[in-house]
Amino acid sequence: MNSTPETRIAAAALRRHSVGVDVAGVQVGAPAPIVVQSMTNTDTADVAATTKQVAELWRAGSELVRLTVNTAEAAAAVPRIRERLDMMGVGVPLIGDFHYNGHTLLTNEPAAAEALAKYRINPGNVGFGKKKDVQFSTIVELAIRHGKPVRIGANWGSLDQELLARMMDENHERAQPWDAPRVMREALIRSALDSAARAEEIGLARNRIILSCKVSGVQELIAVYRDLAARSDYALHLGLTEAGIGSKGVVASSAALAVLLQEGIGDTIRISLTPEPQEPRTREVVVAQELLQTMGLRAFTPMVTACPGCGRTTSTFFQELAKKVQDHVRARMPEWRIQYDGVENLTLAVMGCVVNGPGESKHANIGISLPGSGEAPSAPVFIDGVKTHTLRGEGIADEFVSLVEHYVADKYRAKAG
Ligand code: SF4
Repeated sequence: MNSTPETRIAAAALRRHSVGVDVAGVQVGAPAPIVVQSMTNTDTADVAATTKQVAELWRAGSELVRLTVNTAEAAAAVPRIRERLDMMGVGVPLIGDFHYNGHTLLTNEPAAAEALAKYRINPGNVGFGKKKDVQFSTIVELAIRHGKPVRIGANWGSLDQELLARMMDENHERAQPWDAPRVMREALIRSALDSAARAEEIGLARNRIILSCKVSGVQELIAVYRDLAARSDYALHLGLTEAGIGSKGVVASSAALAVLLQEGIGDTIRISLTPEPQEPRTREVVVAQELLQTMGLRAFTPMVTACPGCGRTTSTFFQELAKKVQDHVRARMPEWRIQYDGVENLTLAVMGCVVNGPGESKHANIGISLPGSGEAPSAPVFIDGVKTHTLRGEGIADEFVSLVEHYVADKYRAKAG
């Protein structure tokens, strides 16, 4: 069942209050919808490859795209990537991901500093020893000068070691010392909050700051973000870092993020999947959208309700049709989104037999109940709860897709010119 506008309004009412941040026109923070973002895995210095991948991520629905900016060549490439995207009509804001040398790259490449819509810095590796404060200040001052927001993104894997050591010492002084994971969690949160406070002292406005504290364990992530959300009203970026490959990455990210989103925590999300060989990078965008959509928080693409199949569906036709319909609506969505208002709310059902087929199909805008083994070889189609067609023979899949196309054109109002 697709989410409805009513469920989305109810979910929006539960969102934690956060200070909204404008990222080149994309609003991050309640009441704005939760924003989907992604990150490229091309060499940023390769302008053609990076431009192509950013465009693919945007077409898949990514509303912000982050790039590694790790070398002078990568920094020099950023304005050229921006220019090419603009020429292609791809206006997605680009975020620069900086580690160790962001202060130098942003200083030496003002065109990159200007082309980026936001800077992401990691307080654990913005600099070390005496240089740390100066380098952090430089980046924040550049953000102020260029009018850009900053994400202060602490990460379990690159935690500020000086802060952690100090907190371990403090912990020894406690009458009842905390266990090590709790100290680590507190160090991660303090790293983000203290850095945000420092950025504000330097002059960065509160509505230019987004925080994240990423860890790779589901329960740890939930604990960290609950605490972080209770202790600040900065907009929060959610993500399970290093989520993993394949279904493990999808499940772990969904498990962690779903709990937090259900509690109203999180203003923007990324699913940090390791792509399987040959898997498109856009998979992380699709998973993020499906997570928000199945939770009733946003609607992006019509979703297909399909039964799992069982001994009553002995041919593969049922699975093939479900996939064909889902692939079709996803492929058509970029065009539909431009042409039709509200088409993302369309609901579809592809069911395997008469047991639940007609019932589930009637709940969808368009549903088809395929013949299970032993049933007559005909497939009733239900449109808005009424049986309107019976499909037979080799052309069932194409005819059903054609009915979907006609339904969309009839039902959803064409957008004005
Ligand atoms: S609807 Fe029919 S085919 Fe699908 S799972 Fe239920 S009994 Fe099996």
